[in-house]
Amino acid sequence: MPAVACRKIVRTLSAQHAPRPHLEPSPMNTLQRTLFKILPRSWFAAIKAESRVWMVRCRCGFARSLWEAGGTRGKNAGTAHWLRRCPQCGQRSWHRISRNASSDRPPPGA
Ligand SMILES: [Zn+2]
Repeated sequence: MPAVACRKIVRTLSAQHAPRPHLEPSPMNTLQRTLFKILPRSWFAAIKAESRVWMVRCRCGFARSLWEAGGTRGKNAGTAHWLRRCPQCGQRSWHRISRNASSDRPPPGA
């Protein structure tokens, strides 16, 4: 392969893999991106807000919001436990889904 063509391919590949700035601290998964595309923005915002109120907790004490864990309350409605691998302890175990009490207060002025 000529060196020129080789360099061109390398340039193309590195351009595709150039780091992109992450606007969201936690990138959306496929389900969440699909919802984002098909739902009106206000519905999507409501699902996102609701999913962030629910916490997924591991036995080791690690907790993150259902949204950050890649779920939505709509999909996981009625689920009290969720089999997930914990990023903290590395164990695949049943995580408890519970509503975050600290976020349960009504917004000011409501
Ligand atoms: Zn854990």
